[in-house]
Amino acid sequence: MSPLESLPPLARVIAAHGLSARKSLGQNFLLDLNLTSKIARQAGDLTTCDVLEIGPGPGGLTRGLLMEGARHVLAIEKDARCLPALHEIAEAAPGRLTVLNADALDLDPLAHLTPPIRVVSNLPYNVGTELLIRWLTPPDWPPFWQSLTLMFQREVAERIVATPGSKAYGRLALLAQWRATPRIVMHLPPGAFTPPPKVSSAVVHLTALSEPRYPADPKILERVVARAFNQRRKMLRAALKGAAPDIEDRLLAAGIQPTDRAETVSLEQFCALARVMPGGAEA
Ligand code: SAM
Repeated sequence: MSPLESLPPLARVIAAHGLSARKSLGQNFLLDLNLTSKIARQAGDLTTCDVLEIGPGPGGLTRGLLMEGARHVLAIEKDARCLPALHEIAEAAPGRLTVLNADALDLDPLAHLTPPIRVVSNLPYNVGTELLIRWLTPPDWPPFWQSLTLMFQREVAERIVATPGSKAYGRLALLAQWRATPRIVMHLPPGAFTPPPKVSSAVVHLTALSEPRYPADPKILERVVARAFNQRRKMLRAALKGAAPDIEDRLLAAGIQPTDRAETVSLEQFCALARVMPGGAEA
């Protein structure tokens, strides 16, 4: 048995280190190592990659990533109580795990990572959405990551992969699908976690595209999409009123009817609209 396989079961680790779950930190732990290995496998071949894991907690997913052969894992955990358990894992995988005690929202991990980089995390839901938006909207593209494999509340996962015409379709779907390919790769019931959360979860795997699917200026596209979905029930000529002069002509030039609503407009059409807005390439 390898030193990683000889580590104690996670329930024992949690008891030994007094890691009672804290709601304020969104702590719902995965204790089944078969499950954490399965999540790690959804990220693809890790053997030639550095992996960024946010919120390792007692280290169930961390162990999965290392068992699946990750070249190196950088784990960023806010709760200092988890550090001794994580250091035990680091000792069982010499040179392959670095643990930083920090808030992932404040820390720039890039100084500690060598490309190619994959991100794999089971995060608290609020932090997860904020980080996803940051990772999808960097100043330059391609981003630092090759892929993101992230656990979300099921509703959020559905918003990421949603298509036009569905209730879940909106800003998150457009941001995620413009420069990446997102897929839901696993569904998990509340009972998979300790303690069980109130909602079901899903793992989303996003692969970065080398180029955006359709040309558009990122800032203009983000602005138009945010404004359009801010009043998603309104016709676009009303929702985008004031966004630019002659908005109806611009909508028509982008192949969109001014009476259409945001939720029926495709990514391609939003990109065309961004190009004819002031500052856009075809304005
Ligand atoms: N990955 C572990 C697992 O799957 O069992 C723990 C998952 S638990 C849902 C989320 C983890 O993220 C907790 O360990 C929590 O302390 C940590 N966390 C919460 N907010 C964080 C933040 N802003 N930065 C880094 N870690 C955070």
